Amino acid sequence: EAAINRIAAGEVVERPASAVKELVENAIDAGATRIEVAIADGGKTLIRVTDDGCGIAAEDLPLALSRHATSKIDGSDLLNIHSFGFRGEALPSLGAVGRLTITSRTEGDAAEITVAGGAMSAVKPAALSKGTVVELRDLFYATPARLKFLRTDRAENQAITDVVKRLAMAEPFIGFTLVDVSGGDRRVTFRAGAETGDMFDALHGRLRAVLGKEFAENALPIDTERDEFHLTGYAALPTYSRGAAVAQFLFVNGRPVRDKMLLGALRAAYMDVLSRDRHPVAALFIDCDPTLVDVNVHPAKSEVRFRDPGTVRGLIVSGLRHALAEAGH
Ligand code: ADP
Ligand code: MG
Repeated sequence: EAAINRIAAGEVVERPASAVKELVENAIDAGATRIEVAIADGGKTLIRVTDDGCGIAAEDLPLALSRHATSKIDGSDLLNIHSFGFRGEALPSLGAVGRLTITSRTEGDAAEITVAGGAMSAVKPAALSKGTVVELRDLFYATPARLKFLRTDRAENQAITDVVKRLAMAEPFIGFTLVDVSGGDRRVTFRAGAETGDMFDALHGRLRAVLGKEFAENALPIDTERDEFHLTGYAALPTYSRGAAVAQFLFVNGRPVRDKMLLGALRAAYMDVLSRDRHPVAALFIDCDPTLVDVNVHPAKSEVRFRDPGTVRGLIVSGLRHALAEAGH
């Protein structure tokens, strides 16, 4: 089983940022209201995700580390996915490629378990007030080939920041903190306090935290639908475009995606108002019945397949063009 976990790990965990994504998604699924991500050395030596969610009972800790043990789906319902996690692969994969310690507390006493190189420790008593701390040390120490492909700490930090910001944008009611603890220091590199109010207010507040005040104050609100697809969010005026496609946040049913068709639609919407070397800035949420979209295309879950891509593309292009035209562009 250790070998299978290592192979699966290659698909799920490409780099520190993919581990961060899996762990933060787990914290979101656990109903956390505050999530802290601590990293050291670009996540290569340490990734620690702390949440105040529902926790894992001591007797369930070994189960959480077993392959395809997920508490989130019963298998008969693969098209009807609401929570982020549904494969039960992340924790066993991480335990196969790093030294993983989970400390957690439900109503009972806190407990912890460690797995390294696929070998699991016994469950031990621990101290924790609430929620879960998942600590991953020395990612890929057992797979030097993969270690070699990691980029500089700076590049890995950048990828982690991007993942955290995307998830933070998707969950404005949750507070997020990203801290760099390299060399024993503690530097907060991103913070977004939990937003309140209705979804549009909360999203606007979160936009400010992630993309900055200037963008938030000059973004066009989008709220439109076509057939069974609903498009909401904010799109920037062409004057707030960027030289690189770094500020395009797309979500399908609350899940961050980086899908070619959707990115192409966003670009097409701005085609007449932006030069080719500029990139629009937007945070767009597409919501639809889960049966109209397949999010289970790739283990990293960032691509999606719509039953009717033409409708979704048309919705984005016409919705954004309409908003831009109203604003005089
Ligand atoms: P999945 O998320 O696909 O279910 P994972 O391997 O990521 O699979 O997690 C396995 C199980 O461990 C989850 O189904 C959940 O029950 C539990 N779990 C993992 N992380 C947390 C957390 N932060 N808080 C509470 N439970 C968790
Ligand atoms: Mg998961």
